[in-house]
Amino acid sequence: MPFFLPERLARRLRAALKGVVIASAIAMDAGAQDRYAAQRQAMLDDIARTTRETAAETGRSALSEAVMQALWRVPRHRLIPAAEEADAYRNRPLSIGSGQTISQPFIVALMTDLLNVTRGDRVLEIGTGSGYQAAVLAELGAKVHTIEIVESLGREAAARLAALGYGAIETRIGDGYLGWPERAPFDSIIVTAAPADVPPELTRQLKAGGRLVIPLGPEQGAQTLTVIEKQRDGALVRQAVLAVRFVPLTGGGTRAR
Ligand code: SAH
Repeated sequence: MPFFLPERLARRLRAALKGVVIASAIAMDAGAQDRYAAQRQAMLDDIARTTRETAAETGRSALSEAVMQALWRVPRHRLIPAAEEADAYRNRPLSIGSGQTISQPFIVALMTDLLNVTRGDRVLEIGTGSGYQAAVLAELGAKVHTIEIVESLGREAAARLAALGYGAIETRIGDGYLGWPERAPFDSIIVTAAPADVPPELTRQLKAGGRLVIPLGPEQGAQTLTVIEKQRDGALVRQAVLAVRFVPLTGGGTRAR
């Protein structure tokens, strides 16, 4: 007796198989295009190793799996200047032009982990730079708002992010020292340039229970990556995490925009 499938079942089977074939074709295509998969994996290994090496200072010997997966998904080589592409996945800072430097991937990973992002969180980033950190936050399901003070950098980052499918990230050119009052309050705020002291507007725009992750310290001197947690009663609790070196937070709200 010939094998016979009822038509409805056959239709479903065909539809399911079609999905499988298309999905694997996309996966193969992405793999073929992604010349950097091995380098990105090596970057993740290096981040895991650096996390273990700094555990005594940071208090964490591993980063969350969600953060590591987000880093795995972001094509860092497509967010930095073409001249730096070959070094995209090395665990070290990179120059992005306009005298600005972006953090080594380990610091991006650590700061992201410290933010405790959950899907749907409203997150504010100060210092868009290349857009890499913003993309990592978007991969975690955050609704990302990011501000850059150098117009050319902000424009380039916005264009690159949109081209890579991160169009839901809201970008703005302006002085992040003042935060983004129209979009406040935020579940968390990340500052990727160092002010001497905490900009008061930022803690004001943070929700109760929210976290501010920020490097604090003088331009050439010792800076400390710091987590500031806003308690339910509004009190701010500070925790020093790691000695770091960031470019200075400029602006200061003194210029009208
Ligand atoms: N997060 C970025 C790296 C940022 S480097 C990334 O993932 O690529 C720090 C950035 O902060 C620089 O681009 C610098 O121009 C910007 N910056 C400095 N002061 C600022 C301010 N007051 N407001 C907004 N951006 C600022």
